[in-house]
Amino acid sequence: MKKKAGLFFFVLVVFLCTACGQEKFYEHSAVVMDTVVTLSASGPEAQAAVDESFQRLAELENMASSTIETSDVAKLRTAAGTGYVQVHPEIYHMLEVSQEYSRLSGGAWDVTLGPLIDLWGIGTDHARLPEPEEITAARKLTGWQHLKLRAEDQSAMLEMPGMSVDFGGIAKGMAIDEVRKIYAAHHIQNGLINMGASSIYGMGKNKENKSWNIGIKHPRNDDPDTYLGVVSLSDTVLSTSGDYERYFVIDGKRYHHIFDPQTGYPAQNGAMSDTVIIDGSMMDSGMLSDLLTTAVFVLGPEKGKAFLEDLPEKVQGEVTGTNHKIYAVDGFEKKLRDLNKDFSLAP
Ligand code: ADP
Ligand code: MG
Repeated sequence: MKKKAGLFFFVLVVFLCTACGQEKFYEHSAVVMDTVVTLSASGPEAQAAVDESFQRLAELENMASSTIETSDVAKLRTAAGTGYVQVHPEIYHMLEVSQEYSRLSGGAWDVTLGPLIDLWGIGTDHARLPEPEEITAARKLTGWQHLKLRAEDQSAMLEMPGMSVDFGGIAKGMAIDEVRKIYAAHHIQNGLINMGASSIYGMGKNKENKSWNIGIKHPRNDDPDTYLGVVSLSDTVLSTSGDYERYFVIDGKRYHHIFDPQTGYPAQNGAMSDTVIIDGSMMDSGMLSDLLTTAVFVLGPEKGKAFLEDLPEKVQGEVTGTNHKIYAVDGFEKKLRDLNKDFSLAP
């Protein structure tokens, strides 16, 4: 009798382990925020969490888009030079965090680059190389010091007519933080929030019950199976920025979508791409990882590395130099596996 019970117990354990080793994930993809977003989750409420998250992403896009006429971005642009506009709390928070990091990055990050980004039109059907005078004129309409925030009623003002904000370098990261809140409400512990690969959150474990393996894009190789390197993440967000994402080439020169606020031209300070990972326990980790990769790209390898080193330990990363050297920060080199042979770690 005892023997039989023992056998039954053994069979049950084997059965349970097979089930937990191959957990089922619900997954859905759709185009939101100009990118293919893929959300996956496991657990009894996985589908509800994913569906609700896509609704939320559409709401956020409606607030943060530069091209939707009813967005907060459009309202701020229309009221520029005239007065304060009340914005949604999510937008106000992005503006607040933006201003703080403009200060910390010495202006490398600047959410008021709207006029410059519109002028270049990189990634749109009106992309072109503007005349130097046009760039000078657009630059005069930028500057984070001319964005005023009023906490009492969560409103913001752009001081000069013609100014505008652009959330292209931060909104997808913020969206990750918002999706995480929905996942938490649905008790999701394992899932992947993939905002078009440039920002991605690995929650808990994958279906093999292991950390999520994330390949970092090789900045000069479009083969989908070729990576700069691979990192394993659990409850961590990863963002990457690079000059390969959206660009055009004229006379052999690459003009990309990350601008140096000091020059009004695409940043050329020695970076080809950069990656930031942030432990998910840090507040606003998604938003910060997105913003930081853009800022660090502008700063370039040396200054970018120094800037990241001054941030809390939960922030790690690397800058890939145009010299194909990897400048790792705060132990990131220990997390990076399978480094592509085109690159080597800087000493
Ligand atoms: P991606 O959207 O490809 O993930 P990033 O996160 O690096 O790329 O953000 C690039 C976007 O950020 C640009 O398309 C533009 O909208 C905006 N941007 C460009 N330069 C700056 C800057 N210096 N400060 C703030 N935003 C910027
Ligand atoms: Mg960014």
